[in-house]
Amino acid sequence: MKREVNTKVRRLFLEDDDKDRRPISTFFGEYTFNRKVMEAKLPRSVYLKLLSCIEENSKLDIDTANAVAHAMKEWAIENGATHFAHWFQPLTGATAEKHDSFIEFVGHAEVIERFSGSQLVQGEPDASSFPSGGIRATFEARGYTAWDMSSPAFLRKNGSAITLCIPSAFISYTGEALDKKTPLLRSIRAVNHSAMRLLKLIGNTTSKKVFANCGPEQEYFCIDREYFLHRQDLVLTGRTLLGAAPAKGQELEDQYFGNIKERIQSFMHELDEELFKLGIPAKTRHNEVAPAQFEIAPIFEEANIAADHNQLLMDTMKNVGRRHNLAVLLHEKPFSGINGSGKHLNWSIGTDDGINLLNPGKTPTENIQFLLFLTAVLKAVHRHADILRASVAHSGNDHRLGANEAPPAIISVFLGDQLSAILESIEKGESIKATDAAIIDLGLSSLPLLSKDNTDRNRTSPFAFTGNKFEFRAVGASQSISFPATVLNLIVAESIDELADKIEKKGTSDLRKTIFEIIREEIKEFKPVIFGGDNYSEEWHKEAEKRGLPNYKTTPEALKAYNTEKAKKLFDKYKVLSEVELASRYHIHLEKYSKNIDIESNAFYNMVSSQILPAAYIFQGNIASSINQISGLVSDNIVDSQRIFLEKISSLIVHIQSGLADLKSRAEAAKRIEDEQEKADVYCASVKTKMDELRKLVDELETIMDDELWPMPKYWEMLFIL
Ligand code: ADP
Ligand code: MG
Repeated sequence: MKREVNTKVRRLFLEDDDKDRRPISTFFGEYTFNRKVMEAKLPRSVYLKLLSCIEENSKLDIDTANAVAHAMKEWAIENGATHFAHWFQPLTGATAEKHDSFIEFVGHAEVIERFSGSQLVQGEPDASSFPSGGIRATFEARGYTAWDMSSPAFLRKNGSAITLCIPSAFISYTGEALDKKTPLLRSIRAVNHSAMRLLKLIGNTTSKKVFANCGPEQEYFCIDREYFLHRQDLVLTGRTLLGAAPAKGQELEDQYFGNIKERIQSFMHELDEELFKLGIPAKTRHNEVAPAQFEIAPIFEEANIAADHNQLLMDTMKNVGRRHNLAVLLHEKPFSGINGSGKHLNWSIGTDDGINLLNPGKTPTENIQFLLFLTAVLKAVHRHADILRASVAHSGNDHRLGANEAPPAIISVFLGDQLSAILESIEKGESIKATDAAIIDLGLSSLPLLSKDNTDRNRTSPFAFTGNKFEFRAVGASQSISFPATVLNLIVAESIDELADKIEKKGTSDLRKTIFEIIREEIKEFKPVIFGGDNYSEEWHKEAEKRGLPNYKTTPEALKAYNTEKAKKLFDKYKVLSEVELASRYHIHLEKYSKNIDIESNAFYNMVSSQILPAAYIFQGNIASSINQISGLVSDNIVDSQRIFLEKISSLIVHIQSGLADLKSRAEAAKRIEDEQEKADVYCASVKTKMDELRKLVDELETIMDDELWPMPKYWEMLFIL
């Protein structure tokens, strides 16, 4: 490729330097209709009513809704907004919004701004073009959006447009969830209900509500946008479908936590500023392991808010990146041969009065509570490992899970040595003697405070206990955290209920003894899911098989977990998803997988036939002419060796040509299959594998062809020139 030095960057920094620098606390959340604004703008009685509706999750009466809408509109207009939008999360995985201006006619050709309570509470986007996985066909239902009061409305500045966004659920008129928020809200209710039940049973009289908390660590790549725009694969599929490995990758380990390049830091800074304004508590930013890879993590929040905020964060990253002439890549595997990007989902449950139920406490009572909730999580993950795996299954994530990279598709739990030892001795019925100075005699049912250092040592585990929370590391970077969080809440709610059932059955006269007996029984069941070794190793794969742990390496395989009686019963029991709603998700994800692979194979075909092969013909011609020119001038064996090189090029060209034809016919055959499961299976086994195979030939060509003729940016440029 012909390279030009990008001068835009320098100028951007200079302009950037005269920005005013306010302390974060003075502008945090200034784009949100937060409690402070509500309190200032709403009549006291309306404010209190709204708060109680938010807290009790109850319906807003129309007068209150009108008053809130009016105040919201006034605030939005003051800040430059012209439109409002219900902002929701359809099953595409992205967010959706339809904008309406605030105007209404009064008299002839004269308008005023108006926003009513009913417009605030409910919207009616034309839902027919969103995926519904058959729900609409079954129920012929239109969809509507409903304001989620628990998530604050916010102003979104996009270019010169400012819009009031109202976080909403998206539901069909017959009540089916058409989105990702609705099941998440339902699962939050379920885990609250079950956990409160168990807490009361073990004597908690102070807590009123249990929340699920999430803190998603977001990994991403950032490359120069000019490069991005020259790559059809990146623009259309989010990942490079071809590209030879650069001479340098991540082997020097000089990127992780390294000094952040100036250009990137400016981007990160502006991103953080935008996030703060939106009330998103961005906390850490650093370089990740791979070149051009970075991470941002917020302070954890209540699951529903965290999910909304992560969606907003992903959008904001892309927008801010564009301003810096950077392309932000959220795909799980934008570049092969180096690390991919995940989204570690830190998850815990806690009460309204500040108890983290996964925090080992200082007193025996706190420790019992901790062990009980820990048991619930382990029991849940063991029993529903397949559903957890399915919740993170999609084509992008297949390049991480199940490939030779962290974490594997086998869902196991890392607990750390100390906690594993404690569970082992509970199982054996022994009280732990102070073998390790930190471990106190369990006869007193007391646990040591587990320091973070004692837990978070295993980076290869897909599900790790890290001191006072679990870290679900199998989530993909581009994914919404909603469904993985929904599944966690749901499966843990079920386990908690079963533990509560058992306690009730055995009676609470000697609570401590009862609980230890129950935990002992449970450990025997869930033990196979605990693994503290190297999750990448070959031995673990064999061992996991022996233990009967599922290992679904590909999306089509993994998604089958939604189509089991076990899953249907579970989702239905807690009213998180009805059978129809679950089936729709199964179909949508299968369909999306097939479409993604189809798009990839088309993009690959187009790039190779219209960009790479034409360049290869020129190169082939150049060598042929050169051979002709030197023939007779140099000795025959020199000419022969050059002829061998020419043959190599020509043979690569021929193999690529025939491979492309094969790829096309395989994709066409897959497309014709009616059954969604079978179709996805074929895309996976036939189309994807052919593309991988062909890529090797193209990458080989890249390394030996004239660099000037190579028609697109190469890995070393994209990854190292920033
Ligand atoms: P690391 O895992 O990289 O060591 P931290 O442990 O500090 O980093 O936190 C990573 C993420 O976990 C952050 O988003 C943080 O807010 C979140 N987190 C911390 N405590 C909890 C908790 N109790 N529940 C859910 N998320 C949490
Ligand atoms: Mg972490």
